[in-house]
Amino acid sequence: MAATLGTIYRDTADAHCGAHGCSCGWEPDRRRDIESLITALYEAAQRPNLLPHPTHHLPGRA
Ligand SMILES: [Zn+2]
Repeated sequence: MAATLGTIYRDTADAHCGAHGCSCGWEPDRRRDIESLITALYEAAQRPNLLPHPTHHLPGRA
């Protein structure tokens, strides 16, 4: 699962690099982003309910 997440991140980051990259404005910072992913994964794993009701709570974004 972790490897899959890493692949998704890499593909997403790659899509934001180069002349034909996505123009949404996000600039991948792999070291910082991976640390954020690790933290988010860890915190999510501590919660008894991994999938709360969609309208109940959305995790904050940096
Ligand atoms: Zn984008």
